[in-house]
Amino acid sequence: MTILVFAEAADGAFKKSSFEAVCYARHIGNKTGAPVVAVALGITDAAVLESLSHYGADQVLSVAGTSFDHFDAQTQSAALAAAAQSLGANTVIVSNTYSGKAIAPRLAVHLNAALASNVVELPSLDNGFRVKRGVFSGKAFAWVDMNADSKVIALTPNSIDVTRDERSASYNTMNFQPAVASRLQVTGINKVSGKIPLTEAEVVVSGGRGLKGPEHWGMIEELATALGAATACSKPVSDMGWRPHSEHVGQTGITIKPNLYIAIGISGAIQHLAGVSSSKVIVAINKDAEAPFFKAADYGIVGDAFEVLPRLIAAARSGAQQA
Ligand SMILES: Cc1cc2nc3c(=O)[nH]c(=O)nc-3n(C[C@H](O)[C@H](O)[C@H](O)COP(=O)(O)OP(=O)(O)OC[C@H]3O[C@@H](n4cnc5c(N)ncnc54)[C@H](O)[C@@H]3O)c2cc1C
Repeated sequence: MTILVFAEAADGAFKKSSFEAVCYARHIGNKTGAPVVAVALGITDAAVLESLSHYGADQVLSVAGTSFDHFDAQTQSAALAAAAQSLGANTVIVSNTYSGKAIAPRLAVHLNAALASNVVELPSLDNGFRVKRGVFSGKAFAWVDMNADSKVIALTPNSIDVTRDERSASYNTMNFQPAVASRLQVTGINKVSGKIPLTEAEVVVSGGRGLKGPEHWGMIEELATALGAATACSKPVSDMGWRPHSEHVGQTGITIKPNLYIAIGISGAIQHLAGVSSSKVIVAINKDAEAPFFKAADYGIVGDAFEVLPRLIAAARSGAQQA
């Protein structure tokens, strides 16, 4: 048995969620004795590849031969399936990111494997192979016994700690040519730059309709900057064009799991909570003491955002200076 991990990259570097996936695989490897092979698509920089060995990869496989410059779930899942088959891997770990969500089911079909997505905890291997999944938009958990020989597991980012486990990994390359040419044509790319990616962020500051208009988002950004956080928003805020859709969290937006989620002027509708309720600590700021968010929050401030935020920003800045 070999455990294969898809090491997803962006802008030439691996994402934090990829290191989490390697740690998840390492845990299985430690329990079963199976080697952990991390697979990178289109990454050839030796220093970048080496970073995977810091978290427990026994082998790093760099796949080349076709372009992986633009995300194409068909090509990437076929490449990963080819790697899994050539290594005889029967357990594949991917991150439950936008890309991972598109790749995992295709990969499971290629490998005739069982699939568990939204996995939120290290597996229990004491009696078979049991995983914990978030279900019903994060409102409940399901413990699933994966009895199939082949398994594909999509691990939700920020679910497990990244722990270093240095290995003297071996490095190999594999040539891959897709049997079917890509049907994807990229006509343009709009990139958000210079910001902490929302799905990678450990702290997220989020604003809702209670902020009244886009002209007040400076306060959200100032607090986010002081805390080293990413910014997010509720659906109506992005629907009205106050913020880009890439910041919309919730059932129809991005699902996040930061260590700290600060919701400002957001009511806490069930569809919003679906994307944020797995955050480790939730702070809600709302002028309505009856706002539903207070039921889901660990800490609440009942107050006007326009009075509370300047004080929070000042406190966060002075905390950052003292640190
Ligand atoms: C199928 C479906 C999918 C959906 N998906 C999503 C989704 O993915 N994400 C999402 O967010 N929503 C989603 N929604 C919409 C959701 O139901 C809510 O309508 C939405 O989350 C409300 O956004 P809001 O809290 O910003 O605005 P509002 O509901 O208008 O709430 C604003 C809040 O701000 C507070 N407030 C007002 N002024 C201040 C102030 N000065 N200081 C402090 N607080 C103040 C108010 O008390 C209120 O609680 C979905 C809805 C449907 C039907």
